[in-house]
Amino acid sequence: MELKICHLYPDVLNLYGDRGNIACMRRRLEWRGIGCAVTELPLGTVDDLTGYDLFFIGGGQDFEQTVLLSDLNAGRRDDIRAAAEDGKTFLCICGGYQLLGRGYRTADGEWCDYTGILDFVTEGSRDRMIGNYAFRLGPESGGGVVVGFENHGGRTRLGSGLTPLGAVLKGCGNNGQDGTEGVRYRNVFGTYSHGPVLPKNPAFCDGILLSALVRKYGGAELAPLEDAAENAARRYMLNRLHVTE
Ligand code: GLN
Repeated sequence: MELKICHLYPDVLNLYGDRGNIACMRRRLEWRGIGCAVTELPLGTVDDLTGYDLFFIGGGQDFEQTVLLSDLNAGRRDDIRAAAEDGKTFLCICGGYQLLGRGYRTADGEWCDYTGILDFVTEGSRDRMIGNYAFRLGPESGGGVVVGFENHGGRTRLGSGLTPLGAVLKGCGNNGQDGTEGVRYRNVFGTYSHGPVLPKNPAFCDGILLSALVRKYGGAELAPLEDAAENAARRYMLNRLHVTE
């Protein structure tokens, strides 16, 4: 077994150590004897994305999110949409998450026409949402508690037909008002959680890996790992946030 992971826009969307999520996914596969091949696709790379099982898109500053518009317009928008609709797994963080929507208006008022895969719009603001936070995943994503770090000016409001990734327990999440965090659509996981989010949320990581393995091989099991250090990091943050599992 092997998963082919594509890191999209590592040159412009990669804030707060987001690439650590790829290192975490690679190690949690290799510790179970499952192969993992990672390909980085920076701006302007020609690739139809059909050869990958899992995609990662990190976060970015407003101006970086405008830089990639030409690449989206050159065909990448359709490639990403086709992969998402084909049930491929995506982990999209903050700006990478905003990219899944119809568009993003930066804090300076510049409109970014995004992929339109999902029915939501993000409105930027200079009043940023920053801090450690926690949310509970929806049942379709395992239902566990995720601890993370958010730093975004964007306020995302999901369309009525969309399922949030989870419910905010502490912090802001999508917009600091409706109690939702992120989005879950088919095997697409969108979240505002930087950090990187996966190392201290091993169950969340394994759920994402399983979604790709099941789609590729029709079924898969991930043997339990010795996650004492990972779960100690989680418990430390849960205690700091006064959040219980
Ligand atoms: N620039 C976007 C915002 O401020 C995304 C930020 C990020 O990716 N951390 O909302």
